[in-house]
Amino acid sequence: MSSKGRAAKAALLVNTGLVIAKIGVGLYSQSSALLADGADSLSDLIGDVFLLIGIKKAEKPPDEGHPYGHAKAECLASMALGAILLILAIGLIARSVNSFFGDIPGIPGKTALVVAGISIVLKFIMGVYLRKTGKMHRSEGLAAGSAHAFSDSATSVAALVGIYLARIGYPLADPLAGAIVAVLVARVAIKIISENVNSVMDRAAPPEVVAEVERIASTFPGVWNAHYIRTRKCGGRYNMDMHIQVGPSITVKEGHELGHSIGEEIKRKIPEIGEVLVHIEPYLPDHDNGGI
Ligand SMILES: [Zn+2]
Ligand SMILES: [Zn+2]
Repeated sequence: MSSKGRAAKAALLVNTGLVIAKIGVGLYSQSSALLADGADSLSDLIGDVFLLIGIKKAEKPPDEGHPYGHAKAECLASMALGAILLILAIGLIARSVNSFFGDIPGIPGKTALVVAGISIVLKFIMGVYLRKTGKMHRSEGLAAGSAHAFSDSATSVAALVGIYLARIGYPLADPLAGAIVAVLVARVAIKIISENVNSVMDRAAPPEVVAEVERIASTFPGVWNAHYIRTRKCGGRYNMDMHIQVGPSITVKEGHELGHSIGEEIKRKIPEIGEVLVHIEPYLPDHDNGGI
């Protein structure tokens, strides 16, 4: 196995261990902070599994039943993950709030402290390791994984501080740390959901991308104007179609070649653009942007 694959697999193993330890010990020793930290690790774990399985499905080439490809499979799976995370986070926040207004929460056991400590160290080592491997392979995925591991390490620091303070006489510190971590988990969940809603709803690319498409098309000799540029988000990319007006007397062959060249140039210059469909039409002075 490549060291890149090994790094991803090692991260998966460590995350699995941490999730089991944090949720198990969090429940057993009644630490809201450790439970919330465990929920955060669980989301990472599901994310890692997605990376291994989900994206493979999304990258499946188009087939007869799905001529536009399978990119949205990833969106649906991510939205499901986001929804589960959000419900989990709300449950944890409710649990913490309950501790503030209900009975004084129990003091978390020493094991909770130890697990949070182990998590800080392991996640930190993981961050350093992923950063090193990522640099070696110039992998953005591993670099992002490294940044994530460092932020997880910081999350566990918050849990550790909460648990420690609860143990030395400030019982509300644990649910407070738990609530803070749970709010962070909820934020991630909402971000995941909204990003993928954009994709399912065919959201357009930002205006500067559309302007760049128009600019690129108009640099081609023979293009009289480009209009009706429609972009739609699909997975991590945008697919698009556009109208190009050309001189009325060029041949079908010339128009066809021009259309393909424009499409290729747009894809080359704007990596976020996936598929381009160019509709060629003769120059019509009164033609508006309403299509046809
Ligand atoms: Zn048109
Ligand atoms: Zn063609």
